[in-house]
Amino acid sequence: MVVNKFSGSNSSKVHSDLSMNGNRLSIILNYGCPYKCSYCIWKKHRLENYSSSPETFDYEYLFSLLSSGFFSGYVSVSGGGDPLYNINPGSTQSILLHRIHRFTQYFGYNLSIHTRIREFRIEVVNLADQFIVSYDDLNEKDLQRFVLFLKSRNKQVRLAKVATEEDYDYLRDINFARMHNFKITFYAKDRIKATWFSELKEKLENDYSRLVFMEKGNIHYYLLPDNKLYRDYSANVLAEILYKESEIG
Ligand code: SF4
Repeated sequence: MVVNKFSGSNSSKVHSDLSMNGNRLSIILNYGCPYKCSYCIWKKHRLENYSSSPETFDYEYLFSLLSSGFFSGYVSVSGGGDPLYNINPGSTQSILLHRIHRFTQYFGYNLSIHTRIREFRIEVVNLADQFIVSYDDLNEKDLQRFVLFLKSRNKQVRLAKVATEEDYDYLRDINFARMHNFKITFYAKDRIKATWFSELKEKLENDYSRLVFMEKGNIHYYLLPDNKLYRDYSANVLAEILYKESEIG
């Protein structure tokens, strides 16, 4: 596929945007997911049926995005499904993640993996510099063992919980994060009437400096499994920049 990084009438906008800092690239992979989270957005996503694979992934476009200088910070790999689901040695998941890792290394980016899978294999863990670990309850099976294992491998760790219950013990999770110097983020559930989330935030946000209450999504650019770059995770708004020649009307 032919890629022209700065094609079209927006080239002056592109160059002014290129001088901005803080644009993050989030690569969304989809291999399915074994969980049934009540707040799952992916399982109703319009690209839910697009599967990721080493054969269909557009490496040329990723090369173009990473070489543009537009993105900074971590490049993250997330789901759609879960990027570590069924990642056995030699699997398509493993091949694709290794290739993405090589691209990010080549351009000097650190890689961040967002997962709910507790994956203890060192060859997988060593692909990322940071792990964002989702969970429902701090006491669920293998969670604490997994994040402490990541810490022992010198990985940055951020705990990530969608806040769905008012009576959950959020302070316990914050104390655990503080004890091990992990970042921790609580996300508001989309549909929630968020009064109590705001109250929780007011009560706890000054309790620990590495704690974030996130009421809206991240400000990322999303490379989704259809190999297009979007401004939103829902894949409704194509990014105006860095698009492919084939997307120019
Ligand atoms: S882990 Fe992610 S993809 Fe899987 S059900 Fe939960 S929210 Fe959905």
